[in-house]
Amino acid sequence: MSYSLKKILQIIFVLVLLFFGLTSFFIPVENIQIRIFSHLKVTVFSLYANQGTYKIIADGNVIASTSGEADYKFSLKGDSVELSKNDTILGTYKYLKLSGTNNQEIKLRIVEPDRKGRVYQGNISCSANEGTLKIINEIELDNYIAGVTEAEAGSRTTAEFYKVQTILARTFALAHINKHITEGFSLCDQVHCQAYFGKPRDYRIFDATEATKGQVVVDENLNLIVAAFHSNSGGQTANSEDVWGSKTSYLRSIVDTFSIKMPNARWERKMLTEDWLLYLKVKHNFPVDNAEAKKVALHFQQPSRKVFLECNKSKVPLKNVRQDLQLKSTFFSISPYGKDSILIKGRGYGHGLGMCQEGAMRMSKLGYKHTDILNFYYQNIQLIDLHKLSFFRDE
Ligand SMILES: [Zn+2]
Repeated sequence: MSYSLKKILQIIFVLVLLFFGLTSFFIPVENIQIRIFSHLKVTVFSLYANQGTYKIIADGNVIASTSGEADYKFSLKGDSVELSKNDTILGTYKYLKLSGTNNQEIKLRIVEPDRKGRVYQGNISCSANEGTLKIINEIELDNYIAGVTEAEAGSRTTAEFYKVQTILARTFALAHINKHITEGFSLCDQVHCQAYFGKPRDYRIFDATEATKGQVVVDENLNLIVAAFHSNSGGQTANSEDVWGSKTSYLRSIVDTFSIKMPNARWERKMLTEDWLLYLKVKHNFPVDNAEAKKVALHFQQPSRKVFLECNKSKVPLKNVRQDLQLKSTFFSISPYGKDSILIKGRGYGHGLGMCQEGAMRMSKLGYKHTDILNFYYQNIQLIDLHKLSFFRDE
C-alpha cells in the first residue's frame, strides 16, 4: 500500500471511530503479570481464598485444591519456598502457583514484614528471588486497570473522572508492558510503574473500566502516548522538554483555570535568606555576591512557568531546585520575608505534565465528558481501540 493511501485510510478510520463513538467491536481476554509488594523484602506471606476454588500447582504438578476454609502459608527457605496448610508443612518447592479463574478473589497478607491484607483477583505465583519471595499476580488486564485506577485516582470521585484514569492506566500499561520483562513479569505495583494495591473497593470503577473497554490514547502517528499526569498544575501545565528533556506533540503547556481553586493549587515555604543564597552559590555556582544576581535570587517571579532562575549567563534549573529543596512544584516565586528570611510561594503539585488530576476532577463535576478532559490536557491525540492499532500501524 502506498504511503499516502495508507495515511488517507488511517484518517478515514479515525473519523469513522469518532463518528461511531469509539465502540469496541471485540475484546479478547488478556492477562498481565504484575509483581506485587515489589518494594518489600517478603519472607513469609499467607493466602486465603475469599471466593471460589483454586488449584495449587507445585513445580508443575497439581498438589491440592483450596477454597475458603484453608489458610496457606508461603515461607522463604534458601532458594525455595515452603508451603504449609493450617500450620502443617506440605513440602518445599521452587515454584508455586494458585490458579483459579479471573473472577475469583484471594486474600493475601504479608506476614514478614507484617502488612495489612489485600484482596487480589486472578492467579498468584511465587518463587525465591535474591533473598525475598517474588510474588506475581497474573490478572485480566481490565481488572488490573481497575485496581490501578483506585490506587492512582483515590476513591469517592466522579464516574467520569474514573473513566479518564482507566484510559490513562490502560495506555500506560500497554506502552510499558515490557518494562520488567527480563525479570519475568510486565510491571511492578509501585509508582516506578503504576501504583496497584489489588481489587478496588469502589464498584463504580469496574463500570468505568467496562465503559472505556479497549480504549487507549495515541498521538498523531498512532503511537501510545506517555500518559503523564500530576496532582495540580497551579494554573498552567508544562512542556515535556522542560521537564524530561524530550519534546512530544501531546505534552504541551496550556493555561488550566480548572485547577486554580483546588486543594493543591497553592503552597508556601519559608527559608533563611542565608541558606537560600548559599544553596544557589554552592550547588549551582550562581553569582549571589553580584548585586544584580542577588536581586534576581531574592525577587524571582513566574507570571507564567519558567524553566530557569537566571541572570546574565548563570542559569539554575528550577527542576533541580524543586528536587533539592523538596518543593511541591517548580512553579514558585521568591520574595524577602521579615528580617532574614525568604518566602517561597508556589503553585501546583507535581511535575506539571499532561493531565492535572484536580483540574480533571473539577471538569468532570462541571459536566465535561472524559473525552473533553483528555483532549483538554493532551494535545493532538486520538482515543482509539487498542485492538485496531496494529492493523493501521506501518509494519
Ligand atoms: Zn516497575
